[in-house]
Amino acid sequence: MNTKISGKEVSSYIKNRILDEVKHLTDKPCLAVVLVGNNPASLSYVSSKKKSCEELGFNHRDIELEESVSEEALLLVIDELNNDKDVDGILVQLPLPKHIDTDNIIRRIVPEKDVDGFTPVNMGNLVLGQDCFVPCTPKGILALLDYYKIDTDGKKVVVVGRSNIVGKPIANLLMQKDRNATVTVCNTHTVDLKKECLAADILIVACGQREAIKGDMVKEGAVVIDVGINRIEDSTRERGWRLVGDCDYNALKDKVSAITPVPGGVGPMTIAMLMENTLIAFKRRRGL
Ligand code: NDP
Repeated sequence: MNTKISGKEVSSYIKNRILDEVKHLTDKPCLAVVLVGNNPASLSYVSSKKKSCEELGFNHRDIELEESVSEEALLLVIDELNNDKDVDGILVQLPLPKHIDTDNIIRRIVPEKDVDGFTPVNMGNLVLGQDCFVPCTPKGILALLDYYKIDTDGKKVVVVGRSNIVGKPIANLLMQKDRNATVTVCNTHTVDLKKECLAADILIVACGQREAIKGDMVKEGAVVIDVGINRIEDSTRERGWRLVGDCDYNALKDKVSAITPVPGGVGPMTIAMLMENTLIAFKRRRGL
């Protein structure tokens, strides 16, 4: 019997917990969301984040800038938000236009408002196993594992993808002394991806390649966390597309012991964790 790991269910549980806490606060947490340009996927992520702020009683500050904005102007916006005592968390929606150096922008955010956990200070503390803002997607994966009581101690975890926002942080988190997994991280130079994946007790896939992980690449009884979000054409849907993950869900679902669907798996967790990090930032800034 396999388990569908429902990010919908867990995220709504976490959001209810946050809502209960925020209800009792006189001041409310405030998230600043910076959007540059009008990339459709970014617009949709930003609108979900604002919607979550509204559902949970958070304030939000919306900064929408032209695609052509200069790096200097964007840095000034970050400085203003850093210095704004009413702003608890700063989120810069990625990707940024090519003429802007993303690292420069991220580095400018003060660590105490870096609710995405992307600044070198937070990332460095994460690697050291010290207190930090944990990036939202990896934090969401850990919350799913905890909710479904999936133990990582002594388990072989394989992570497909080494991005700064998913692969690297989740691999580091799982190798810390509170999780004790044995972690392998794969990339496009990995010689035999199938062999690596077949060895996994827990397979975490964030490679951005639709349905790259096939049924014969996963061990019987493994746990699969599919982070991927890929839009594919689907003429049977009114909107003309649907979302699929980086794993071939239908080929894997009867073979594994537990798996996240796409949509409804990791995606909703990322936003719930952003809200949780913003609440943490709010409380820390007020010494609560
Ligand atoms: P990136 O797209 O930045 O990087 C992909 C990584 O996967 C790279 O490290 C790349 O290796 C590796 N990779 C690509 N193809 C293969 C392959 N065939 N075999 C082994 N490794 C491979 O990753 P992100 O983490 O930003 O995104 C990954 C996916 O997760 C995307 O679908 C994205 O939309 C989704 N996502 C979902 C989120 C959510 O909330 N659910 C949040 C963030 C991302 P190399 O370094 O060698 O190029």
